[in-house]
Amino acid sequence: MQAVDSLMFITQRPDLTFVRGEGSWLYDRAGDAYLDFVQGWAVNALGHTPALMREALAAQATQLINVSPAYYNEPMRRFAARLAALSGLERVFFANSGAEANEGAIKLARKWGARERGGAHEIVVFEDAFHGRTLATMSASGKAGWERLFEPKVPGFVRVPRDSLDAVRRAIGPRTCAVMLEPIQGEAGVVPFQDTFLRQLRELTRELGVLLVLDEIQTGIGRTGRMFCYEHVGIRPDILTLGKGIGGGVPLAALLASERASVFQAGEQGGTFNGNPLMTAVGDAVVAEVARPGFLAQVAENGTYLAERLRALSAKRSLGEVRGRGLLLALELGRPRGAEVVQRALEARLLINSPRAACLRFMPALNVTRDEIEEMLARLRSAL
Ligand code: PLP
Repeated sequence: MQAVDSLMFITQRPDLTFVRGEGSWLYDRAGDAYLDFVQGWAVNALGHTPALMREALAAQATQLINVSPAYYNEPMRRFAARLAALSGLERVFFANSGAEANEGAIKLARKWGARERGGAHEIVVFEDAFHGRTLATMSASGKAGWERLFEPKVPGFVRVPRDSLDAVRRAIGPRTCAVMLEPIQGEAGVVPFQDTFLRQLRELTRELGVLLVLDEIQTGIGRTGRMFCYEHVGIRPDILTLGKGIGGGVPLAALLASERASVFQAGEQGGTFNGNPLMTAVGDAVVAEVARPGFLAQVAENGTYLAERLRALSAKRSLGEVRGRGLLLALELGRPRGAEVVQRALEARLLINSPRAACLRFMPALNVTRDEIEEMLARLRSAL
């Protein structure tokens, strides 16, 4: 059948249809190979169609694909135990997307505030934050251009500037239940919070008796060279959200919380596909691989290598800063030509992304090779 575009318009897509993927490579209908440094927006932790995921899917598909979330299933229990052990947070709720996990985090923080802090419901959030595209998560986000979109927004979010502990302190009052942030703001252009700020924020939230919620949907599951980005600074949140890389490409996300913050009562949280055995079996296999001894050290090494190579390119071409951690990196271009470079890179069969007009973002598979990094740089040079 001749394909017509019956898809609802949500974004301008290039006139390409991908039919196959393997590792860092994607193939279109014509059989042309594209080097993929987008990887589903930092999702395909192990690259395209890894054997480990195919095997986990096939094995689980012969056993059990779906039961109601009203019942236990084996992969759901196994994977929850693995995440709890890795994070030090005792309770896990599975969701289907990052935004849904964040909605759950917002609800959980509000419920905790209702129960433990006299009805406190406000959440302190940050400028330029990105927490998703549902109404509450858009309301929590500080993305430019969203201020007046889909009004009225969900109330109860107080926005402060990045890295200002004073502003957070001033914003926290008797109605505050939590502070919520991404340790590195990915969609804002890979902008990290300062390590000292994160440590002081952990102290402050403890001192003032409010919850710390970390959105590690982009930074979690090895992306920054540690399983969770908060490990770099030696803190632990009360509530944590994971998505993207947690399923390696299947729709899966998670909301984790300490025992103290796990205050949902029966009927307050749920959803048809939550904890689905097919998805959790795959997530469990992916995270087991990322947790394998040596895997994260390799991510950190390749991250350092990619950053050094990008810095050399930047120096040579008089571009700007290279920032980020592990394999979540951005290169400032100095001028708002991100979209143009992305288009030229596409012509050179390289997929990269420009989250802000003057910067490029690199989020390859966590098992990307040095040769692939070199090939990416060669194509990027020609695109520049
Ligand atoms: N939070 C962060 C930090 C993200 O980067 C994203 C997606 O880019 C989301 C939340 C939303 O996740 P999803 O698109 O799976 O709903």
